[in-house]
Amino acid sequence: MKKIVMKFGGTSIATGENIRRVATLVANGAKKGNSVIVVVSALDGTTDELCEAAEHAQKENEAYIRKFTQKLLKRHSAVAVKAIENKSIQKEIEQVIEKTIDELEKVLTGISYVGELTPKSRDYVLSFGERLSAPIVCGCLRDLKLESQWFTGKEAGIVTDSDFGEASPLLNVTTHHVKQRIGPLLEKRIIPVVTGYIAATQDGVVTTLGRGGSDFTATLIGAALNVNEVWIWTDVDGMMTADPKIIPSAKLLSVLSYQEAAEMAIFGAKAMHPRALEPLMRENIPARIRNVFNPKNLGTLIANSQTAQRTDVVKAIAIIKDVAMINISGAGMVGAPGSYAKIFEVLGKNCINIMMISTAVSEANISLIIRRNLLGRALSTLEIALLGTGFISEVTAEDDVCVIAAMGANMKGTLGVASRIFTAMAQKGINIRMIAQGSSELNISFVVKEKDGVAAVRAIHGEFKLDKM
Ligand code: ADP
Ligand code: ASP
Ligand code: MG
Repeated sequence: MKKIVMKFGGTSIATGENIRRVATLVANGAKKGNSVIVVVSALDGTTDELCEAAEHAQKENEAYIRKFTQKLLKRHSAVAVKAIENKSIQKEIEQVIEKTIDELEKVLTGISYVGELTPKSRDYVLSFGERLSAPIVCGCLRDLKLESQWFTGKEAGIVTDSDFGEASPLLNVTTHHVKQRIGPLLEKRIIPVVTGYIAATQDGVVTTLGRGGSDFTATLIGAALNVNEVWIWTDVDGMMTADPKIIPSAKLLSVLSYQEAAEMAIFGAKAMHPRALEPLMRENIPARIRNVFNPKNLGTLIANSQTAQRTDVVKAIAIIKDVAMINISGAGMVGAPGSYAKIFEVLGKNCINIMMISTAVSEANISLIIRRNLLGRALSTLEIALLGTGFISEVTAEDDVCVIAAMGANMKGTLGVASRIFTAMAQKGINIRMIAQGSSELNISFVVKEKDGVAAVRAIHGEFKLDKM
C-alpha cells in the first residue's frame, strides 16, 4: 500500500465531465489499496477572472460585481450538476457554492466601497477559485461511493509568511499541522481534498503561494505526510523537450533529476511551479507528471540524480514571453564600487524581481530582464533614484523581447554547446540581444525579439535533434 498525493490542474477539472474522469482516477488508486490525498486547482481560467474582477471592483459599482458573481455561480453550479449524480449530494454542494459566492460578493463590494485593492485583499479574492472547485471534486468522489472531506489550505494547516501574492511556507509549523489534521483521515480511509494555492499566515489571514501554486501545495503536503509519490496530473503527457503547444514534435522526458526539473520550471516550462520541488528534494520523494487524458502513459518521473539518467547535453528548451529588458549605461559606473548594488537595491525595495543580468567587463552598462508588467514602475523608480546622481547617464527599455533557455545537466563541462546554439540562431538570422549562463551550467539563456521567439526554440530543438529522442 502506498501513500500518494494526486494534484489536478485547472484544465483537468474544467468541466463536470473532466471532474468525473479525475474522480475515477482517484477511485482506481484507492481501490488498489493506496491512500490518496487530492489537491485541486481552480476550474480553468477562474483565477484569471477573479484577478480581473478584483482590479475592476476598485472602480466599479455593485451591478458589475453582481454580474460577475452570477456568472461564476452559473458555471460552478452547472459543473457540479454534471459531476455529481446523487441529488442530495448535488444539492448540498450547490448550497456550499452559493454560500461561498455570497461571501465573495461581499468582499468585492467592500473593495468597491473602499476604492482600493491591497495585496492582502487581492489574495483573499483569489482564494475563491479553489474554494469553489474543491467541494465539487469532493462531492463527485462521494458520488462514486468513496468517503471524502474537503479542506482549504488554511484548514489543512499550510502556514506562510505574509508576503501576499507569493507567500513562503513556514515548514515546521506546516508539517506539524498537516500531520495532525490530514494524517488521521488516511487511517480512516477518508480521502482528503485540499484546495491548492491558498494558505494562511499564523494569524489566519489568507495568503496565496504564487500563480500555479497548487503544485507547491501538493508537494508540501506530500513532504509533511512523507508520502511515497506525488503525482501532478495535467493536460500533457509530462515534462517535454519544449512546450508541446508551441513545438508539436516535442518529446516526452521520461526521467528528470530534481535539479533539471526545477531549472525547467524556473525557466518558464509552465508545467510546474518553480518552488514545487523544494519539499520533495529535501525528503527524497519522487514526483510524477501525468496526463489525465492519457493515464496509460507513465509520464515524467522526477527523482534524485542517481535515478535520473543524464545523457543528453540539451534536454529541453523554454520560452518566457512576458518579459522586458532594461539597459542602464553610464561611464560613472566604471570602477565605482557599489554601483550595481544601488541599482539592485532600488529595484528590490520596489518589489521588482530581476530575472536575468548581463554586464560587460567595461562596466559601462548593465542589462536586466524583469516581468513586463513591472516595466513602467521599474523605469520611473530607476530614473527618480539614479539619473540625478551622475553615475548613470541613460536608462532605456525594450518591451518586445522574450527569454529563450536551453537546459540540461550534461551541459556542465561540455564544450561547444553555446557555439551550436548561437550558430543555429545566426543561420536563422535571429539577432541576440543579451546572453547569460548561470554558474550552475545547467542552462544557457538569451534574449531575442519576441517575434523571433518561436523560430529560436524550433531552431535549437532541431539542432540538438530533440524531436528524434
Ligand atoms: P495545470 O492547469 O495542470 O497546472 P499548466 O497550464 O499550469 O497546467 O501547465 C501545463 C502546461 O504547461 C501544458 O499544457 C503546456 O502547454 C505547458 N508547458 C510549457 N512548457 C512545457 C514543457 N516543457 N513540457 C510540458 N508542458 C509544458
Ligand atoms: N489557480 C491558481 C492559478 O491559476 C493556482 C494553480 O492553478 O496552480 O494560478
Ligand atoms: Mg499549473
